[in-house]
Amino acid sequence: MLAEDLIAEGALPSFPSSAVDGYAVRAADAGRTLRVLGESAAGRPFDGTVKHGTAARVLTGGVVPEGADVVVMVEDVQLVGDDVTVPSGLRPGTNFHKVGDDLHSGDRVLSAGIQLCAAEIGIAAATNRARLPVRRRPRVALMSTGDELFEVGKTPRLGQIPDSNRWALLAALREAGADVNVLGIAPDEPEPLRNLVVEALKNADALVTSGGVSVGTHDLVKPLLESLGDVHIGRVKLKPGKPFTFAIVSGGRVAFGLPGFPVSSLVTFEVFVRPALRKMQGFAQLHRPTLPVRLDYDARPTQERTEYQRVTLRREGAELVADTTGSQSSSRLMSLAGAHALVRVPAGDQVLKKGSVVEALILSLP
Ligand code: AMP
Ligand code: MG
Repeated sequence: MLAEDLIAEGALPSFPSSAVDGYAVRAADAGRTLRVLGESAAGRPFDGTVKHGTAARVLTGGVVPEGADVVVMVEDVQLVGDDVTVPSGLRPGTNFHKVGDDLHSGDRVLSAGIQLCAAEIGIAAATNRARLPVRRRPRVALMSTGDELFEVGKTPRLGQIPDSNRWALLAALREAGADVNVLGIAPDEPEPLRNLVVEALKNADALVTSGGVSVGTHDLVKPLLESLGDVHIGRVKLKPGKPFTFAIVSGGRVAFGLPGFPVSSLVTFEVFVRPALRKMQGFAQLHRPTLPVRLDYDARPTQERTEYQRVTLRREGAELVADTTGSQSSSRLMSLAGAHALVRVPAGDQVLKKGSVVEALILSLP
């Protein structure tokens, strides 16, 4: 993430540069036979001036010599010895890049708050910037909780399930720009859980846990966060993800207690954690883009909770058409795997009818 606007300190290109292999001439000499004075190759400029009746050979990327106002492509000339005949009707300014065509000195090249991707890094380098001011990635400690979890790849005992949230959340955190410290699986016991969290917070800006935030007797994360700081959110009117918990703990660090159910943890990550992490990094754009989609199913609401329904998208003409991924159970990760978008269905009893157009949160496009 770029922390400050990048302003051009000079023009780009910084010299008139040929776009083709050919001859640099004066447009006023169109249709004439000209004496070739020398050559301007990329990185090896010709240091004479093109005057009336003369030309200089130029190669792509070479400096267009002083005096010339047009480059004629090599395909369009006739060369006999040191004399070149150029066509009539030459337009000044063709076939070369003029000083400042891309950027003038003082232009804003890149804006603060953008993600530095390939082209942005390229343009910064093209303006000869060796260093860019960026925001540090937030350090996030990631922990799964639950006595039923075993490490993916190991052999389970009866009643155990793979710690899939760790891998899903690790991928989601990285996509959101975080530097992740994976703490592994914490048991449903207060002391070891507390020790792990306290230790991890020493080197983290944020803590993300999954599981242990419901109201069962083994749900220890909420009381732990209460003992370490202030729990600001202990439940949300959201489906899936009702037990989502947010706390500010020692030293202003933030803690997100995500529900254990795989879909709940990823949807609450998407709705609350991802924008927060992007905000911490100074991104101008915090949220996923939205696009209008036409529903191909009746999206039924939940009475008290806003629901984020998972859909696949397909193109039909100019439209995106959304179909449900099937059972929206919060334990059914198959409802999110392969989903292109989330359709936000407001709480209440208003069905979003098949055929209606709604804004959807785009995760990926088909
Ligand atoms: P909890 O929020 O701890 O009550 O967990 C709710 C459900 O999510 C339970 O069925 C758990 O087995 C499941 N679950 C919790 N943590 C994980 C995890 N790390 N990976 C996969 N499933 C999980
Ligand atoms: Mg649990």
